[in-house]
Amino acid sequence: MRFLRLLTILSLLLIVKPISAKFYTNISSIPPLQFLNATRSAWETFEKLAGCHVGDKADGISKLKQYFRRFGYIASAAAVDNFTDDFDDVLRSAINTYQKNFNLKVTGKLDASTLRQITKPRCGNPDLIDGFSEMNAGKKFRRTERYSFFPGKPRWPKQRRDLSYAFVPANNLTDDVKQVFARAFSRWADVTPLNFTRSESLLGADIVIGFFVGEHGDGEPFDGAMGTLAHASSPPTGMFHLDGDEDWLVSETEISRRILPVTSVVDLESVAVHEIGHLLGLGHSSVENAIMYPAISGGDRKVELAKDDIEGIQQLYGGNPNGDGKTSVGAKSGVDCIRRWRGLVLNSLSSFATCIFLICF
Ligand SMILES: [Zn+2]
Ligand SMILES: [Zn+2]
Repeated sequence: MRFLRLLTILSLLLIVKPISAKFYTNISSIPPLQFLNATRSAWETFEKLAGCHVGDKADGISKLKQYFRRFGYIASAAAVDNFTDDFDDVLRSAINTYQKNFNLKVTGKLDASTLRQITKPRCGNPDLIDGFSEMNAGKKFRRTERYSFFPGKPRWPKQRRDLSYAFVPANNLTDDVKQVFARAFSRWADVTPLNFTRSESLLGADIVIGFFVGEHGDGEPFDGAMGTLAHASSPPTGMFHLDGDEDWLVSETEISRRILPVTSVVDLESVAVHEIGHLLGLGHSSVENAIMYPAISGGDRKVELAKDDIEGIQQLYGGNPNGDGKTSVGAKSGVDCIRRWRGLVLNSLSSFATCIFLICF
């Protein structure tokens, strides 16, 4: 495993292309042109498929199948070259699962709300791995939580609670940009026993962070502006890649809601907090306000861990021994337990009353 990781880092160093990402330190520094480019993602072409359903044939459906294959909704064994423009049962099944994961009405059709969700910028990690997803298992199993893990539930081993991270030197990142990652790591450190420190040694670091464009050696090429924004590996591989073709905002302030729908600039800290969740062992969640929700709108900022994120990460590592206890799983599960029991008692009373009513009348 260690040798493979070393090999990966060396190959990244050899093929890394000069970064083209632009970093904006505040909203007023974003040029007006960026606002006009808000809909330049290749996925926008899916919008012309609106209303399509089983039995239809249309240009672009094969590309949509590739999209669903990429995020795990169509089995990876399916050959990309063999995808046709037929809206078949395989596609309908993929859309059904996708709609369930994103809390949309399950129609199996390409309705407006489904297409709006599909075209949003998102994390490059799949929602389903090997056809399996716990992303929205909460509804199915009547659980409140929706967080998920990678298959096999990998996590950093117990003896490694102090993790280091390093940046690919060729990116020449400024201290402002590096500081964004420090803030993102600290959000996870606050609720776990984990500590994160920056290292100058790329080969000795547990986590390696780099901005790349297009194909960059791991078989997961980036796709230019918007589309996929970043991806990260499960523990203990420690690979964190961001799309160098994005325009990144490094400011701590929230972008005005007024300009939010028309900007193509992505909040770096929001994406960093999400990808660090993967690096620590979390998969995607269907809770929209959770950090581990896979999509984010251009210009949006979401950096606070939600209850779902905290409960997920504490399943893997436990709480922060120096924390104030407000975010520990134990403290929350006690309250949840009382609520669950209260619900059960109320439901039983209600069923009992219904039976009495039916017997008597
Ligand atoms: Zn993700
Ligand atoms: Zn990559």
